[in-house]
Amino acid sequence: MDRLADGLPGGLVRYGMTCERISQDGDRVTATFGDGSSATGDLLIGADGHHSIVRRHLWGDGAVRPATFGTWQGLSPIDVDLTGTHRHYMITGREGACGLMPAGDGLLQWWFDVRWSPADPRPASPLSGLRRRFGHWAAPVPEVLAAATDDDLEFFGHHWNKVRRVWGDGRITLVGDAAHTMPPTLDASSRKRPRPPCSPASATASAPPRREATRRSLRRRRTHAFQTRTASPGYSRTNPVSS
Ligand SMILES: Cc1cc2nc3c(=O)[nH]c(=O)nc-3n(C[C@H](O)[C@H](O)[C@H](O)COP(=O)(O)OP(=O)(O)OC[C@H]3O[C@@H](n4cnc5c(N)ncnc54)[C@H](O)[C@@H]3O)c2cc1C
Repeated sequence: MDRLADGLPGGLVRYGMTCERISQDGDRVTATFGDGSSATGDLLIGADGHHSIVRRHLWGDGAVRPATFGTWQGLSPIDVDLTGTHRHYMITGREGACGLMPAGDGLLQWWFDVRWSPADPRPASPLSGLRRRFGHWAAPVPEVLAAATDDDLEFFGHHWNKVRRVWGDGRITLVGDAAHTMPPTLDASSRKRPRPPCSPASATASAPPRREATRRSLRRRRTHAFQTRTASPGYSRTNPVSS
């Protein structure tokens, strides 16, 4: 944030403000903040994430819904061969999905996607649950789980929202997750080059030849996209978690 704000006139950016209300007329739009102050301008861009108050102002509550999956994620020094490379694994199976991504300086970003509902209580030791669920997967998943600690873990429940044909009204518009919540699995598939898919139990041992595997991957993606559209028109849903 400091780098983004560097060079702007002092006082232009105000941190720690919570937008609580928005109003507009034909000429101006006004945001009112939690401390009672307000800001008025020609245009308001709501970049306030998937629980966007700007979106709620435009279309009311209930536009965002919890997805059926969430992510346990950690960033920690984990000494496996992958950590020193520029490769990134995304492994999926019945139990959920696992991502492993080197982050430099001996750090590995690692995450596990599992089924989730907002009513689920936080487990006492999430890591024990992950070890039970994913501990039998191919290397280096068990090694990562053995080296991780509960303190490394953060949980993120995912959400999706209805993607509207327009994402603004009058002097108000939306960007980012406020306009279109982006589950990370969708992002991984759209921006990062996929490796051939392989079964969790044989990820390193017997990956199929790349061209055939890529063909299969694309076929599965198309099938999944088709099933998603059929099951839930108007909603983006991308995670393969099945149990
Ligand atoms: C576990 C996980 C992993 C992810 N991995 C990736 C990845 O690898 N690559 C990728 O591209 N994307 C990833 N994503 C998605 C990515 O994080 C989001 O798409 C992105 O952060 C959306 O940015 P945003 O600026 O629209 O919203 P946010 O990042 O949610 O930012 C919204 C901001 O608005 C503020 N705010 C909210 N309400 C108010 C209010 N009323 N008043 C004032 N401020 C407010 C919040 O405090 C926050 O700072 C991941 C998401 C998750 C949960």
